[in-house]
Amino acid sequence: MQKPNDRLAGQTCIVTGSSNGIGSAIAKAIGQEGANVVVNYHSDKEGAEETADWIAKNSNCGEALVIGGDVSKEADVSELFKKTVAEFGTVHISIGNAGLQQDHALHEMKLEDWQQVIDVNLTGQFLTARAAIKEFLKRGMRPELSNALGKIICISSVHEVIPWAGRANYATSKGGLKMLMQSICQEYAPKKIRCNSIAPGAIKTDINKDVWSTEEGKKKMLKLIPYGRIGEPSDIGSVASWLASDESDYINGTTLFVDGGMTCYPGFTQNG
Ligand code: NAD
Repeated sequence: MQKPNDRLAGQTCIVTGSSNGIGSAIAKAIGQEGANVVVNYHSDKEGAEETADWIAKNSNCGEALVIGGDVSKEADVSELFKKTVAEFGTVHISIGNAGLQQDHALHEMKLEDWQQVIDVNLTGQFLTARAAIKEFLKRGMRPELSNALGKIICISSVHEVIPWAGRANYATSKGGLKMLMQSICQEYAPKKIRCNSIAPGAIKTDINKDVWSTEEGKKKMLKLIPYGRIGEPSDIGSVASWLASDESDYINGTTLFVDGGMTCYPGFTQNG
């Protein structure tokens, strides 16, 4: 972890699904930059509290607050923002990280497996971004804190561009997220809102533990990564904290691929 440098001091950030994995690393990186961080969790309250404790110990000036809630439920997202505003006054940065997979061959995929992934990975991003934009517009500019009225970061995936057999629900949710993110940018950039995505490649978390935790799975995974290592959650955390800061002020409506070169399709290296 880098040393704190308070690039986000005075700002408040919500990170959805941040009790573990990539979300927890993002919450910690944002906390180290001095922001107040809301650690949202779905079921792992203990993990969320550990993340919040870490932030309390490692931030110079930010505070951490744990709030439960399911991002696919309109009432939960509304409550998440209401409680955040009640505690910290407003929201400056909203990071939609919550996501899941329900893998099945398409001809065997139940409607509920399709629906759950779309509900969490795509509708959850819509609900979170909508609540954030409403709050940004209500608050108005605070130029002493940021050049932007607000920042939205969507955690997408390399599968917003790489098709994925056996996971059509997941790839579709992330492909749709690309259009949601860009449409938000087109609509709200004139109001000084920045909306971008981060697309991780293979990052070591619970979501893909069954693959990287065996030698054979790890070898297969590494074949897809030209840079020769599996990513760590902190690889995404450091990019997210920079993308939330004014150092990236001119970046809007784009996806940053953080994937060790996975989207350069290494399978073609010897087959051109
Ligand atoms: P993870 O399973 O460790 O974490 C996912 C988090 O989302 C968990 O905290 C979970 O509780 C939360 N969540 C799930 N459903 C929720 C809901 N309805 N409401 C609120 N929270 C909910 O996996 P991760 O790898 O840390 O994934 C984080 C994000 O990164 C996801 O959007 C995932 O699609 C994306 N991603 C991960 C990888 C990777 O290789 N790990 C690659 C590309 C994209």
